Amino acid sequence: MEACRRCGRPLKDEKSIALGFGRTCRKKFEVEEAEFRRIQITIDDALRIHRLKIMPEYFKAVASKAKRFEIRKNDRDYKIGDGLLLREFKDDDYTGNEINAVITYMTDYEQKKGYVVMGIEVCA
Ligand SMILES: [Zn+2]
Repeated sequence: MEACRRCGRPLKDEKSIALGFGRTCRKKFEVEEAEFRRIQITIDDALRIHRLKIMPEYFKAVASKAKRFEIRKNDRDYKIGDGLLLREFKDDDYTGNEINAVITYMTDYEQKKGYVVMGIEVCA
């Protein structure tokens, strides 16, 4: 017998079986999913992790540890100690390749207004 994925009670009608949820649980599940996504964003904020797009040529340079800095517009209130999740971006899409790094140094010396240079260390 098919059981509800949320509460484990047996499912009776075909539509519920196809969805994997009873009608009430389906609605509650959607609310819970939305809440889960909201909490994830909050966790990123709390842990101070910035998700950033990065072009393949720069991704490779960071991955090989040849490039240990990022120059970015500081529209995210970057701080030393913050995490960067560098997500390789190619042809309007994420490739799935990612690098975790930590900001170790910051300066805006001689930079365009609003821009910052960040020293970064790639995490193992
Ligand atoms: Zn249920």
